[in-house]
Amino acid sequence: MKQFKAESKRLLDLMINSIYTNKEIFLRELISNASDAIDKLYYRSLTDKSVNTNRADLKINIDIDKEARELVISDNGCGMNEHELETNLGTIAKSGSLAFKEENEKKEDIDIIGQFGVGFYSAFMVSDKVTVESKSIDSDVAYRWSSKGADGYTIEQCDKQDVGTKIILHIKEDTEDENYSEFLEEYKIESLVKKYSDYISYPILMEVTHKHKKEGSENKYEDVKEIETLNSMVPIWKKPKSKVSEEEYNSFYMEKFYDFEKPSKIIHTSVEGQCSYNALLFIPSHLPFDFYTKEYEKGLQLYSNGVLIMEKCEELLPDYFSFVKGLVDSQDLSLNISREMLQNDRHLRIIARNIENKIKSELENMLRNNREDYEKLFDTFGIQLKFGVYDNYGANKDKLKDLLLFYSSKEKKQVTLKEYIERMSEGQDVIYYAAGETIDKIDMLPQVELVKDKGYEILYLKDNVDEFVLQVLMEYEGKKFQNVSAEDVDLDTDEEKENLKKANEESKALFNVMMEAIKGEVQEIRFTHRLKNHPVCLTSEGAISIEMQKVLNQMPNDRKVDAKKVLEINENHKITEKLKELYSNDTEELKKYTKILYSQARLIEGLTIDNPTEITNLICDMMSK
Ligand code: ADP
Repeated sequence: MKQFKAESKRLLDLMINSIYTNKEIFLRELISNASDAIDKLYYRSLTDKSVNTNRADLKINIDIDKEARELVISDNGCGMNEHELETNLGTIAKSGSLAFKEENEKKEDIDIIGQFGVGFYSAFMVSDKVTVESKSIDSDVAYRWSSKGADGYTIEQCDKQDVGTKIILHIKEDTEDENYSEFLEEYKIESLVKKYSDYISYPILMEVTHKHKKEGSENKYEDVKEIETLNSMVPIWKKPKSKVSEEEYNSFYMEKFYDFEKPSKIIHTSVEGQCSYNALLFIPSHLPFDFYTKEYEKGLQLYSNGVLIMEKCEELLPDYFSFVKGLVDSQDLSLNISREMLQNDRHLRIIARNIENKIKSELENMLRNNREDYEKLFDTFGIQLKFGVYDNYGANKDKLKDLLLFYSSKEKKQVTLKEYIERMSEGQDVIYYAAGETIDKIDMLPQVELVKDKGYEILYLKDNVDEFVLQVLMEYEGKKFQNVSAEDVDLDTDEEKENLKKANEESKALFNVMMEAIKGEVQEIRFTHRLKNHPVCLTSEGAISIEMQKVLNQMPNDRKVDAKKVLEINENHKITEKLKELYSNDTEELKKYTKILYSQARLIEGLTIDNPTEITNLICDMMSK
């Protein structure tokens, strides 16, 4: 007897002792597995000449033996060899299991089973013994896996002629609360298949008993047994939208794409025309847990008239929509199409373009009509859209710019660029923004204060990519973007400008002395009117802002960049008087003041200072005077 791995055992215990009322889903799980196994075999036969299958022969059988209390589900799919039986059924290793485990800690057991396809182990909700006989397409020998539950399992060789898998469930005895015997009734099984597995694309066959009138007699009946196909085989994506309930969509998604939460958006579309296809797309409600790993592959499943021909067709999704899951089914695609041929396939390109437009317009709809949901979605996947704007030198920026949201100083929530423009005050001709680590930190930037005071709305950019996005966009509806920390912010009247210019010219000599103290650090020192209460700030000249400098220097790159910085001093602050006074009396002291002021400006910007000991000593000296 072999033991189950610890986490498998936990899941198994959960199943065996389940008080979950929806036990019937076990059949759906086993039929899905059977269907997947047939898919795999068929898929292989398309590329591997040594595998011969006739699509018409592929099927799933259900047999009931009431006497023996056995329900048997067999398929002629790819089967499993000894090792696969061991690893697939002895451990949970599937993609969703990690998420499942995390959920497991938090939620009630009952919830979990309802939310997440738990696969093969669900058989133990209704069976006290499960036997799996399987012969792999790659093996001449068949094996039997058998388990009565938590004790462990056995694996041995067995006789089985055909490739495929046979699952024999020994159905539990009835209890006071549970009628397990109904899973041995034809009508029950029939209705379960209809309910959960109708769309499965292979026939699910079962021998069904009918009452037939006995020949030559009026009211005598006899039992006639006939093999029947229980499912309609119309996949959910080929059904009209009105015939599919939201619940069906949700459980289809969760089962097929291994999610434990329902999607935040379902897009079901069918297109007839130069290229016909059905697409069923889902936007997850949370970040797939492997989204930022190398393992994550974008793409949609590709079907040719109901037959899976590719698990992840990446050509169908642009990178910026890589979080979308789903499938496309088109009869215009050939079954035997290879990956290389696909890339150049005209139909596929048309479909991909349509899908992209469809996703985009659905997102726009959501933004318009369901703002709250869109904001949630944007919190999760917005960064993807921003990268989409930035990538390829902005090739897709016009497609995506209206889907972007940025935090607004006025609205205290995320707004679109369009909304910003519509609210712009008269005479305002730029879109103001400020960048920093967090909304709170940005809000406290000295440069932000006055711009806000003048009544302008400011977009707060907190994601690393944000400023680069605006740089690529360049403008929105003819309005340029203006960093409130850039030297060319233009808030003053002509007269004010003239006054400031004069003040700066008059203090040239003062600035020259100050420059000596922080040589090489800044381009220039000058007075400003952009500050209200704060004494100093750092601004930048040219294309690279201080925030961009930080972002770029975080990247694994040898060459460090440096924004061209300007130390600006609030001309209306009382420190200005002090500086002027020191210039006349004590230039050495003036230099110390300059160093401290410059350090303050750096700290406010979130930059580090190179000489913290020197600065703290200087401050202490002054304090003790
Ligand atoms: P999931 O189907 O969600 O991956 P399961 O616990 O249902 O998880 O099944 C585990 C694995 O066992 C499957 O991924 C598959 O590789 C294998 N398996 C289950 N049923 C069959 C079957 N009928 N034929 C072939 N392989 C199967």
